[in-house]
Amino acid sequence: MDFDLSDEQRMIVDTADKIARTFGADYWLEKENRHEFPQDFMDELGRAGFLGFCIPEEYGGNGLGMTEASLAFEALGAKGGGAAPGLLYLLASVFGGLSVFNHGNEAQKRAYLPRIASGRLLVSLGLTEPDAGSNTMNTRTFARKDGDDYVINGNKIFISGVENAGAIVLVTRTTKKEDAEKKSLGLSLFLVDLPQAAIRHTEIPKHAGDYIGTYELGIDDLRVPHSALLGQEGLGWYHVLDTLNPERIIAAVAALGVGKAAVYQAVRYANQREVFGRAIGSHQGIQFPLAAAYNKLECAWLATLKAATLYDKKAPQKKVGDVSNIAKFAATEAAVEAVYHAMQTLGGYGFAKEYHIERWWREVQLMRLAPITQQMTLNYTAEHILGLPRSY
Ligand SMILES: Cc1cc2nc3c(=O)[nH]c(=O)nc-3n(C[C@H](O)[C@H](O)[C@H](O)COP(=O)(O)OP(=O)(O)OC[C@H]3O[C@@H](n4cnc5c(N)ncnc54)[C@H](O)[C@@H]3O)c2cc1C
Repeated sequence: MDFDLSDEQRMIVDTADKIARTFGADYWLEKENRHEFPQDFMDELGRAGFLGFCIPEEYGGNGLGMTEASLAFEALGAKGGGAAPGLLYLLASVFGGLSVFNHGNEAQKRAYLPRIASGRLLVSLGLTEPDAGSNTMNTRTFARKDGDDYVINGNKIFISGVENAGAIVLVTRTTKKEDAEKKSLGLSLFLVDLPQAAIRHTEIPKHAGDYIGTYELGIDDLRVPHSALLGQEGLGWYHVLDTLNPERIIAAVAALGVGKAAVYQAVRYANQREVFGRAIGSHQGIQFPLAAAYNKLECAWLATLKAATLYDKKAPQKKVGDVSNIAKFAATEAAVEAVYHAMQTLGGYGFAKEYHIERWWREVQLMRLAPITQQMTLNYTAEHILGLPRSY
């Protein structure tokens, strides 16, 4: 167990700090107000090599791992990005990059990974459906074999980034649940270029994070060639599982980013704001909640780094899953608490957009719901770690 950063890891954190000076809290306030995708930020990440973690050098990546990705994106978030950098990394490199790296064929890897690593290609994930929600087994979007092609029909909901994405990983059924040998069989993934006339998208006006659009999709007779299949037909659920752990690790990183950004902002404010002749930060009533929230964020950070390290060491999936799940839960709980107390610390200014806390207050709520809800992480711990009966 070594808690020291290597020279290379230290350089990554320094680079993240430098990027955060340009793309700090004011940048994200402006992006959200303008409802504008942060392409200049993505370009900068591409230049820094930050979208190529977990992608080997031969495919344009930097060959480093989830640990380095966590270090980079936690720093970008904590230094003012909030949850945004982590969420964008999830969208750019985890949904797309890892799915293609883990299950793509050589042609798909060569065609997609270098563009993902450079920031030129964003890949959305089309998993959630209106009638399935957290239960992916109930996916209804269906890919019917037609000669050498597949014809896809169905609906997806809450799919992020579609308008800025050059491709989407569509989760479909190729065998209906009722006809499958096991309900987890018969799902298949397709890597489909965007835009497509057969995929209609309608933006969902939403609570927070307006720097990335979130959409409802209607897929009508989308014809794709066999070469669009990602991985093996029928094993899509098992392929999705391979990205679940990194997804939870980076979700934890996004939560830590927003939690820490809020604590740092509250501390800066509490040190300056004088009300009864002294800085409000000198009152324990202000200090203790911020200190407690910070302690919890740091504990969650340790769990996150442990999960990332296990992932990079290729530890058994269950072992990585246990810690990734705990990290996502703990980071989100700590972040919600941190933003809550930061809001109280700023008093009325916590409500003013220019102080950022109200944006992070909205943003942190997303971490309770996506990419997995807090309840589903508790279901995991209850069943898979504690050995309690499955409750659903
Ligand atoms: C802004 C945003 C962006 C998103 N981006 C994407 C994206 O890019 N791609 C994508 O595929 N999806 C995306 N999602 C979808 C997200 O992953 C889902 O919203 C989430 O997984 C929950 O599904 P649901 O909303 O259908 O809730 P449901 O599954 O309907 O759950 C509703 C509530 O019931 C609880 N619940 C359900 N079952 C149980 C149970 N067995 N035990 C205890 N509690 C339970 C849940 O925890 C939740 O609180 C996004 C969502 C949002 C809000």
